[in-house]
Amino acid sequence: MYYKSTRNSEVKVSSAEAIAQGISKDGGLFVPEEIPALSMEEIAALGKMPYADRAAAIFAKYLTDFSEKEIRYCVDNAYSVKNFDTENICELKKLFGGAYMLELWHGPTCAFKDMALQILPYLLTVSAEKLQLGKKIVILVATSGDTGKAALEGFKDVEETQIMVFYPEDGVSAMQKKQMTTQEGANVGVCAIKGNFDDAQNGVKAIFTSEEIAEKLDKNGLMFSSANSINWGRLAPQIIYYISSYAKLLAQGDIKAGEKINIVVPTGNFGNILAGYYAKKMGVPVNKLICASNANNVLTEFINTGVYNKNRQFYTTISPSMDILISSNLERLLYHICGENDARIREWFGMLAAQGRYEVDEQVKAVLKDEFYAGCCDDKETKACIKEIFNKYSYICDTHTAVAVKVYMDYVKATGDNTKTVIASTASPYKFSGSVLDALGVSDETADEFELVEKLLEITGLPAPESLLALKDKEVRFKDSVEKDKMSGYILGCLGI
Ligand SMILES: *Cc1c(COP(=O)(O)O)cnc(C)c1O
Repeated sequence: MYYKSTRNSEVKVSSAEAIAQGISKDGGLFVPEEIPALSMEEIAALGKMPYADRAAAIFAKYLTDFSEKEIRYCVDNAYSVKNFDTENICELKKLFGGAYMLELWHGPTCAFKDMALQILPYLLTVSAEKLQLGKKIVILVATSGDTGKAALEGFKDVEETQIMVFYPEDGVSAMQKKQMTTQEGANVGVCAIKGNFDDAQNGVKAIFTSEEIAEKLDKNGLMFSSANSINWGRLAPQIIYYISSYAKLLAQGDIKAGEKINIVVPTGNFGNILAGYYAKKMGVPVNKLICASNANNVLTEFINTGVYNKNRQFYTTISPSMDILISSNLERLLYHICGENDARIREWFGMLAAQGRYEVDEQVKAVLKDEFYAGCCDDKETKACIKEIFNKYSYICDTHTAVAVKVYMDYVKATGDNTKTVIASTASPYKFSGSVLDALGVSDETADEFELVEKLLEITGLPAPESLLALKDKEVRFKDSVEKDKMSGYILGCLGI
């Protein structure tokens, strides 16, 4: 299996090359040239295996240049109880009726990013070894809060790698900031930027595609790679949990083989929901992929009208990991549904860069309508949803997951659809204790982030993650903050080149 660039179909690389490079030199994203199929028998068989075995079976279809032993090494190291607080790695809990919460936050940093970032360092180091790159890999990350910490935790002290994370100074929660700025490890760096997530992501993309910087790195025995969901090595691991949850529902007898399900995803960069799309194309019977946005509802409008317009007000919300106006992974979806027409992708994304707006054609609009449903809600509705779900079902959602639950409830109201539904629960509520308490009507302006955790524990009884509590006594190591146009200089300075 080879991978092509969305902006140049002639580019053809192995999975190891796609993972090591992160992004294609032409600015495009790597996509599999063919989406591998899974039969219903294969899916059903997965339901009886531990998570690591499910992962190994699915990776074998995508990483065809990896040996069975190499895949085993990656999945066994990543998906173990050393790293996750449950043997199941992720949990599937019935919320109400036919709605299930897929809890993806049982890893070390309490957000779904761990599902991919616990394995990416292994995929990447194995790839580098296979390719005999002989270079140290510098991981560059732009984060809206959760990716940064998950990547730092995954890559800390991994040999022959160094990692640098940029986060928007005023765009992350107090706990997220504490998680990143106290990070341990000899090969890690963290820096705030004066701007929002899109600025951070654009800055990182510009650094990646600069030939001048690439040459400089090369001379010094270094190369860049990405831990953002633009890297195929981030996306592939996310496909697994959707297939896995279908297999589990089947094994539990909650659905029959072939029965369709809906998948609801609180969306920012479109990585997580795109993984659901790949799961569907591989053979998981999916009715609708439901894309839930916060007040930054550029995707809601796009899916409903076919017009992508980032020229709009940017909102800082209580679901900061979704405060994004340029959803990178949409490029992969559009490449697949426009018939792998790279010229068209270059045209649309060129317009996005130049004018901040593009409109897809009628054929693409029709496919979007058919595969997806999109909705959004603001902070007020998000809070009301947290409260309602807690009061009715004694289930406590974080602020991102609540956006998904709210949009799902709106969808059911609008369509009457009673298809069984898996809702991606993307973060532990303890990561956003302040906003969650506020939603429950018991906010406390004077409490620090750890007192808020205690308070949420008192009210909900849900065990608080040890990893968050342990941050309390950790020293802040990283205090730098730079202008958004000074990122490349800052990086070169850190690397001493
Ligand atoms: C990253 C993140 C999202 C958005 O996921 P995308 O893959 O960027 O669409 C949603 N919720 C939480 C908690 C996140 O950390």
